[in-house]
Amino acid sequence: MTEVSGLTFPGNKVAALRAFTIADPGPTEVQIAVKASGICGSDLHSYDSDSGLRAFGADDPRVLGGPRTGRLLIGGHEPAGIVHAVGEEVRDFAVGDRVLAYHILGCGNCLNCRRGYPVVCTSGERAAYGGERDGGHSPLLNVEQRSLIAIPEELSFVDGAMIACGAGTAYSAILKSGVTAGSRLLVTGLGPVGLAVTQIASDMGVEVIGSDLNTERASGARKHGLHHALAQSTGDAATAEIMELTNGLGVEAAIDCTGASSARTLCIEASATFGRAIFVGVGRQPLSFDPTVQVITKMLTIRGSWVSSQAQMQELTSVLARRDLHPEALVSETFTLDEGPDAYNKFAGGASGKMVFTW
Ligand SMILES: [Zn+2]
Ligand SMILES: [Zn+2]
Repeated sequence: MTEVSGLTFPGNKVAALRAFTIADPGPTEVQIAVKASGICGSDLHSYDSDSGLRAFGADDPRVLGGPRTGRLLIGGHEPAGIVHAVGEEVRDFAVGDRVLAYHILGCGNCLNCRRGYPVVCTSGERAAYGGERDGGHSPLLNVEQRSLIAIPEELSFVDGAMIACGAGTAYSAILKSGVTAGSRLLVTGLGPVGLAVTQIASDMGVEVIGSDLNTERASGARKHGLHHALAQSTGDAATAEIMELTNGLGVEAAIDCTGASSARTLCIEASATFGRAIFVGVGRQPLSFDPTVQVITKMLTIRGSWVSSQAQMQELTSVLARRDLHPEALVSETFTLDEGPDAYNKFAGGASGKMVFTW
């Protein structure tokens, strides 16, 4: 048992450091000395909510379905660090190993877990780090060994934290989009995920066309491999610009990282015949389009993508190391955990860019 200070979300737009007792790792758990922990847009749901980030039920974070009336949990779902201690049954990792955690723990046995996608685990055991159990905004974190992925020595801990969520999400969407060298890819939304798509896809030889409401963000994406920033982020003018760039054909694939219906519509309308539109950005707005014109006669594939498989995340660590590509380059600011309340205040206030806690 060790006393630590972890960052919590008690509710109503507050981030607060609290003292916690971290148990020694269980038999199949690994205790990580966290070295990097990303701040992510999806943290804002619990940061903004009235009830904050709490365990379900009483004190057991795995009692699902009840109101979140349990203890405050430590936030953060993008952890990377060094193995500090291992449980007695851990065989695959040892003290000193550099690791990141796939941020959702699944049961390991259901069909979707066996497909490598704990994010869609169908059992009641599904628990996100920094969601239903303690997360990475803490100097120490206990993680089940099956959530861990080794970080190659060529990559930094910040690279690892980026892979744990945004870059892993980006890579999976790129694979699902089926782009190859020479393909034209539209990326709508150039936040951390859209920039990671840009960085990785352009390195593959894909010509990336990007759009963002923030034109500064779009032009800044050039240094991460963006070939062309659209003058208008959505609408008929954006579609026309893409058609002009592609000799009237449209793009082979499009990845929406916004969740906004205007951007999703652009992805559909700007896609070429046999194109693929991949939806990654989460948004609840309904979407209206003509399936006959935009899907059937265009033979368009529309596909959703949520995080990545564990295999894809592991493969990405190797791809980035061999290609000397560093998602750390997409980070705009780093903070110490003591600066956590200010960092979240700044992030929730609309500051763009990617922020990461480092130790
Ligand atoms: Zn995230
Ligand atoms: Zn499962």
